[in-house]
Amino acid sequence: MIRIFLLFALITSAFASDVQRYRWKNGETFLLFLEKNSLPLKQLYYDLDKDDQRLTEEMRSGIHYQILRDSNQTIKQVLLPLNDELQIHIYQDKGSYAFEAIPIISTTRTESFTTTITHSPNYNILKETGSKKLAQIFIASFKNSLNFKNDIRKGDKLVMIYDQKYRLGEVFSMPTLKVAMIEMRKKRHFIYLNDDDRYYDEKGHEVEGFLLARPVRGARVSSHFTKRRYHPVLKKWKAHLGMDYAARRGTPVVAAGSGKVIYAARLGSYGNLIKIRHNDGYETRYAHLKSFRRGIYRGKYVKKGQTIGYVGTTGRSTGPHLHFELRKHGRAINPLRVVQVTTKKLKGKERKAFLTLKKNYDESVNLHLANKTQFKKLPKFTGKCYVHSLECQANG
Ligand SMILES: [Zn+2]
Repeated sequence: MIRIFLLFALITSAFASDVQRYRWKNGETFLLFLEKNSLPLKQLYYDLDKDDQRLTEEMRSGIHYQILRDSNQTIKQVLLPLNDELQIHIYQDKGSYAFEAIPIISTTRTESFTTTITHSPNYNILKETGSKKLAQIFIASFKNSLNFKNDIRKGDKLVMIYDQKYRLGEVFSMPTLKVAMIEMRKKRHFIYLNDDDRYYDEKGHEVEGFLLARPVRGARVSSHFTKRRYHPVLKKWKAHLGMDYAARRGTPVVAAGSGKVIYAARLGSYGNLIKIRHNDGYETRYAHLKSFRRGIYRGKYVKKGQTIGYVGTTGRSTGPHLHFELRKHGRAINPLRVVQVTTKKLKGKERKAFLTLKKNYDESVNLHLANKTQFKKLPKFTGKCYVHSLECQANG
């Protein structure tokens, strides 16, 4: 880590150039990106280990990234965010270029607003905030419990409290909903994010969204999902974009949800891999399989809970386990939020803790309603951002 900061310091003094911001285009690959910018493929891709190579596949269209050039237009540094916590850092080093994965520094603000319905929650949230993401999150939260089409009336009210990340002065990544409330015909409906990272309604019943079955029955989770993790032995940052279930070789693996098999073959470090496409942009992946169940092939429809293959240790794996991934529109998400153990009803101590959290949130919601809290647009950022310090300075 010290090396990086030294490097940043050097650049600070030698090049006071600012940073150009770009958007990752649809269909662009990491190799294409390197070629386009005349960056060396060997050092920055072919010489990398398998894990780092796999990380480069995580770049998705629409992502904003930064390039720092000196006054001769030579690339000094590139920052490519892989998710909201980890980024690829390419930097000039001894006349060539080097690759590393480093954490993203961002700040989080808790934001909130209330709005009165004139048309629909979707329309009014968009009108108030200009954010499609917030509208989507709100609608999805009540999708299985309320019927907005039939039951909403003009003058009904809603409140959202959520965390928003900012990076280099810009809104960054999906907001995390903490509370959503809608008052329909004088009755209030809530959703709360609890300390266990799951969503509950006002009665302390878990809110069912897209629920997945556990892909290996009764298996222990041996490694959790993480967008970034420091490997103390290799001394580098990695991501684990799935969950590992430890199980004996040959243990049946079941489809976590109904859908269509879109891949069933070997794939690099994944080993024997099955990918299943589900509704609403969800996809699940099952890796390191010993073998596929007979009759499971690309194009086949499977039901939730149906056996599709068997636990093994093919590909890059240190022992028999299932590596399970959940993706939404290509983005890896934490399966824990959606994997069904049993739908949870909070009891005892857990319920007591939830009720305290709920009480605090309810007070906030009441305050926002009373104050008619408006969505605060941050003033458009016109300052400069510096890659070397990962800091921004406002102009003037
Ligand atoms: Zn894994």
